[in-house]
Amino acid sequence: SERCLTVSDLAVGFAARGGTILALEDISFHVDAGETLSLLGESGSGKSVSAQAIMALLPDTAVVSSGTVRFDGKDLLALPRRETRRLCGTEMGMVFQDPLTALNPVFTVGDQIAELFRVRQGLGRRAAREAAADVIDTVGIPDARRRLGNYPHQFSGGMRQRLVIAMAIALKPRLLIADEPTTALDVTVQAQIMDLLGRLQREHNMAMLLITHDLGVVADVTDRVAVMYSGRIVETGDVRRVYDRPGHPYTRGLLASVPATAGGGKHQPLATIGGLPPNPQRRPQGCTFHPRCPFAQDICRTERPPMVDLGNGHGATCHFAREMVADDRLFA
Ligand code: SF4
Ligand code: MG
Repeated sequence: SERCLTVSDLAVGFAARGGTILALEDISFHVDAGETLSLLGESGSGKSVSAQAIMALLPDTAVVSSGTVRFDGKDLLALPRRETRRLCGTEMGMVFQDPLTALNPVFTVGDQIAELFRVRQGLGRRAAREAAADVIDTVGIPDARRRLGNYPHQFSGGMRQRLVIAMAIALKPRLLIADEPTTALDVTVQAQIMDLLGRLQREHNMAMLLITHDLGVVADVTDRVAVMYSGRIVETGDVRRVYDRPGHPYTRGLLASVPATAGGGKHQPLATIGGLPPNPQRRPQGCTFHPRCPFAQDICRTERPPMVDLGNGHGATCHFAREMVADDRLFA
């Protein structure tokens, strides 16, 4: 299928006293049209920095030291920031964790959404308002036409996130990036928002990049996952394969906190991984996960593991990835 976004060999550092701290290294992934990829990891693993790099939203202290981000045949990292930002409002839609930061409290939602159609598509006042009502209806807000005159604070948290999604998809982007889109919401509303994102993704044949720390929330809408740890991708593959046969001990630890029904697989509850991710200024030698890994051997403390090909697009950066997926005792 048609490739939408390709990130290759991306590395991002932050200027700090005593040198540059690498926040991301060796980051490569792609998302096709009509497909959802989830970037998964703890906070600080680099998943949000990856999204910021794609959208030209990195802070000024960040330096992209290598890599390309190709979207629609263009290298976004080589474009002027202004051009990337323009693409971000039109061909790339964004949904963030906190809907209140994306909505302006002093304008009605009708004015805010109609504005998009007026400025970006040149629609007249009446047509823009019609288009705004349509898109509000599309995201499942009842009585859309009447609610155009309401202000953001007159909606519940879940409805506000629907409004943010409405703005993100209004101009029919080819790529939707959602960074922890449900974290601020309660559990039942989380599921509704994920259902909505999944439906819109299918209906519009969008590519979707989901950024999350919670495997359980995204399982049903995700095609593939890329698991991040300490600024690198440690496992990638089809969501069912990764759920059923994780090749990296870190992924197994993440799965331990997921209910058995998520992903359709049966998971023995595993002890949650002890310890903390490393300080990026002092990453361990060899495998960066070794201080926390219950399977660590001598080689892990000295040699950095390569991405081991486990077949069918599944890979993990662990010296023992093949043993991990092959050992039935680990998945009893
Ligand atoms: Fe654990 Fe070694 Fe694999 Fe790293 S390479 S995840 S330390 S077994
Ligand atoms: Mg984050």
